[in-house]
Amino acid sequence: MEKNCLECGTRIIGRADKKFCNDSCRNSYNNKFNKDSKNLVRNINNRLRKNYRILEALNPGEKTKTTKAKLIAADFDFNYFTSIYTTKVGTVYYFVYDQGYLPLDGGEYYALVQRKVK
Ligand SMILES: [Zn+2]
Repeated sequence: MEKNCLECGTRIIGRADKKFCNDSCRNSYNNKFNKDSKNLVRNINNRLRKNYRILEALNPGEKTKTTKAKLIAADFDFNYFTSIYTTKVGTVYYFVYDQGYLPLDGGEYYALVQRKVK
């Protein structure tokens, strides 16, 4: 079966499990892959940290209520959270670490809660 190097595309001759033509191609491919995934992780971590700071600033006590407009104005991104907590009655809280939020009244308002971390 014909195979090409994952890095440079050169046709590979030899063992069937060979993916690169040489160590140099293997190294540059792996370095690139690691760099990309690190950037991805860094970007998501930054996003989560920003969300966390926003929740913390809006919820200095343990519990409060805010509006969706305020969260959006602070540049909160609803796509990034670290966990979901569903209560027995089916209420779903979204958490960014120990700061949680819960949409109320169809999503115009949000309850903000801080979870006690043991
Ligand atoms: Zn190569």
